[in-house]
Amino acid sequence: MTEQSDLFGAPPQPLRGRHYVRPRGYAGTPGRGPAGAACRTCRHLARVECAKTYLKCGLARERWTGGRASDVLAGSPACQFWEAPS
Ligand code: SF4
Repeated sequence: MTEQSDLFGAPPQPLRGRHYVRPRGYAGTPGRGPAGAACRTCRHLARVECAKTYLKCGLARERWTGGRASDVLAGSPACQFWEAPS
């Protein structure tokens, strides 16, 4: 059996790193919110405090898991559901 190679004969590169986890914690699509806004300035950002503090999106609460797949990044560009703190 032959190993596939790319157009130039080099072995194909993996698309993601070994430890990549597909993010599923965002309520919407990051980057579709107001320009310059981020999750850290959104009223829906929730801080779940256990041994550490985990950042989650309150609008995606039904998708929260105990793992990092449902975490959000504070610096992530805002999604279309971003709202200013009240
Ligand atoms: S911008 Fe707000 S609503 Fe959107 S994913 Fe971040 S915390 Fe959730």
